[in-house]
Amino acid sequence: MRAGGPHELLGGVFDRDLCIGCGACVSLCPYFKSYKGKTSMLFPCTRSEGRCFAYCPKIEVDLDDISRAMFGEPYAADSLGRYRSVHIARAGKNVGSGTFQAGGTVSGLVMHALKTGSIDAAVLTGRNGLNPVPAVVTDINEVAKHATSTYTAAPTIAMFNRASQEGYERIGIVVTPCQALALAQIRRNPTNEKNYKDRSALVVGLFCTWSLDYRKFRTLIAEHVGVAAVRKFDLPPPPAEIMEVHTDNGIIEIPLPQVRERVPHSCDYCFDMTAEFADVSVGVLEGRTDMNTLIIRTERGEKAVEEAVRDGYITLGELPAENLDHLRAAAGNKKMRAFKKANDEGLINTPPDKNALFRIPKETIKRI
Ligand SMILES: Cc1cc2nc3c(=O)[nH]c(=O)nc-3n(C[C@H](O)[C@H](O)[C@H](O)COP(=O)(O)OP(=O)(O)OC[C@H]3O[C@@H](n4cnc5c(N)ncnc54)[C@H](O)[C@@H]3O)c2cc1C
Ligand code: SF4
Ligand code: SF4
Repeated sequence: MRAGGPHELLGGVFDRDLCIGCGACVSLCPYFKSYKGKTSMLFPCTRSEGRCFAYCPKIEVDLDDISRAMFGEPYAADSLGRYRSVHIARAGKNVGSGTFQAGGTVSGLVMHALKTGSIDAAVLTGRNGLNPVPAVVTDINEVAKHATSTYTAAPTIAMFNRASQEGYERIGIVVTPCQALALAQIRRNPTNEKNYKDRSALVVGLFCTWSLDYRKFRTLIAEHVGVAAVRKFDLPPPPAEIMEVHTDNGIIEIPLPQVRERVPHSCDYCFDMTAEFADVSVGVLEGRTDMNTLIIRTERGEKAVEEAVRDGYITLGELPAENLDHLRAAAGNKKMRAFKKANDEGLINTPPDKNALFRIPKETIKRI
């Protein structure tokens, strides 16, 4: 893989407006910081190679390399990535009550992993107003307080970096697909750090079609309601074309086109809807906002799910074939849109002396 440092990161990611603010380059050195949805470099750094560049999911991502490191196989020509099984799921009887985004499967899995000690900490993303705030959670009773989705892009991986430095050994983390990609880069130790240890023990991915720019979204919400009154956001399936804002005083509907104007430029190049580099991936079940779709991808993901079912923290059911078809179609459309845009703009498979957004064999694109 190509190496690079902050200079290449600034030119290849920030100047192209591709930074999604995942936080993978933050909490590694004194230079990169994240503040209210934006990552920036505070002082110049002259290193020619660095973890900031190597961990970033928006530059020189070699999909075959990452897939081989994680699954032992090249990148799959499958709109859902590599996986073992797909289910419907929801929180089980031992999760207790709470406001969850959908079925509470994510919170159920995290609670169970903390309870059994298979993880010693969970990196979750709560919110302060609309500002997404990552946190390290070790108390099972704190998990539900970080439930629901802040649809704004968040620096969750910066908190993973910090938790690793603080000495947590088995970290569970809930991530969007771009954050899962950053974590997959970190886990293969691309800069050959001495004494490197993979401290991730369970990576729970969230489906994601797009996210929102925190600052622009806050302005939009403030036009409709006081931010402090917001409890939850929902995106009803098509043809609804609205975002529901659940507030203390009822539900407000905002036309989706107004919301979409706040999507970061970087999401237009994102090929992953289902968090292909997570252990398990969770989304909202189409047509049932109180349930989840669950994709199991790895052995440790499978073990986490089986044990959570056994102990009453989640329940599983069979995903109807029609739902799977729709999921495949949506994920495939996102992939092809992103591949086309990146290809049209000369951002993939560039010559070796020019940094690419990502690299993927042309044959794989054709097969998808
Ligand atoms: C930006 C974004 C876009 C999404 N788009 C889709 C989509 O297109 N289709 C779909 O089916 N599902 C989407 N989801 C996922 C969906 O909203 C639910 O998070 C998922 O179905 C899990 O539901 P749950 O009830 O199990 O979650 P809960 O039990 O309520 O837990 C939610 C978890 O999400 C984490 N979280 C919240 N906000 C963020 C954030 N900004 N970044 C990282 N982690 C966060 C929290 O740590 C919490 O643990 C999206 C989520 C996000 C954050
Ligand atoms: S690692 Fe994440 S926060 Fe840093 S430049 Fe890349 S996308 Fe932005
Ligand atoms: S669409 Fe992709 S880049 Fe944008 S927040 Fe979701 S996973 Fe990240």
